[in-house]
Amino acid sequence: MTASVDTALRGPEAFSLSRRVIDEMETAGVWPTPLNFELWLHYLGDPEGALGREIRRILDAQEPFTEGTADMLAAEYLPRGRLTEEIRDAGRVLDRELHSISEAIAKAHRSQTAYGQTLDKASARMDGVEGGEQLQTIVTGLTAATRKIQRENESLEKRLEVSTREVARLREHLEQVRRDALTDALTNLANRKAFDEQLTAACEAADAEGEALTLAVLDIDHFKRFNDNWGHQTGDQVLRYVASVIGRVAGAPRMAARFGGEEFAMIFPRERVDQVKTALEAIRREIASRSLRRRSTNDDLGVVTISAGFAIRRPDESPTLLLERADTALYASKRAGRNRISSAEDLQQAA
Ligand code: GH3
Ligand code: MG
Ligand code: MG
Repeated sequence: MTASVDTALRGPEAFSLSRRVIDEMETAGVWPTPLNFELWLHYLGDPEGALGREIRRILDAQEPFTEGTADMLAAEYLPRGRLTEEIRDAGRVLDRELHSISEAIAKAHRSQTAYGQTLDKASARMDGVEGGEQLQTIVTGLTAATRKIQRENESLEKRLEVSTREVARLREHLEQVRRDALTDALTNLANRKAFDEQLTAACEAADAEGEALTLAVLDIDHFKRFNDNWGHQTGDQVLRYVASVIGRVAGAPRMAARFGGEEFAMIFPRERVDQVKTALEAIRREIASRSLRRRSTNDDLGVVTISAGFAIRRPDESPTLLLERADTALYASKRAGRNRISSAEDLQQAA
């Protein structure tokens, strides 16, 4: 996918392809942000590729192409999204290499020490042997040679120590890069990619232990209107505020993520429904209780509210289905007037 688009962009069709991308984005009502442009470039450059098919599915389903959608697609399909796995692998390879080098050195060290001891013993046994003096001279020579090798070995070990420290530093750096790749830069919550990984892992753990697992989806109400009134930057400020409230309630083993543009998700492993409800209600109430102020001008921004939906995982239910049910519950909250929380289970009982 990447290769074909990259080739096309340096070939005779580059400009017509780029123009077509802009045109099609305009037709579809998608803003030509750099990320969107990149995604659509891949889409039109290789419509049958995985990314192309996913974008077509989104368009066919008439799902809105939000910034969240773009982030999600980028994490999943653009090459830099695959970086996290590569970083993890690089860390593992480093560890393995370092381990095998230190093993090899330790082994060499052991056999040299043993050799030195053998020589020492031989030298001792030669005392009093006929013609021993001459032999002893030879052995003394060998011993000196062994000591020299041992000294070199020691300097090798010192160098290994330095390398080990260097590798540890590198690993830390890789870990930081990896954390960055899994963190949403605006809110500092986990991003969609981290969330997907965590949800899959949580589902597997829940199956293995036969434990409960609840998934919640939270969405800011009428956020578009808010952005339209106060501008995107103030909108970002609100996103950070909402994220901070959610983050405070999401201590381990819970997990919260920015799931899309103004949408958040939370995983509640091993909790009862009433505990989940209490946590979500606390978030909803706290956000609704505060009249926000714009930092730059101190304007009163009024009250922002959130709606949420949650679903309790059924045995063996896939992350996708669980998410769909939580989403349906969120949608019910929206329809019922927003600033509320609905459960997929209650909906089903009512139906
Ligand atoms: P609803 O109550 O039904 O959820 O209405 P809504 O307006 O919140 O929902 P809609 O999906 O129509 O609009 C979401 C808006 O969120 C559109 C987009 O401008 C805004 N948004 C998405 N990501 C960001 C972001 O990173 N920053 C800002 N400021 N706004 C964002
Ligand atoms: Mg919304
Ligand atoms: Mg939304």
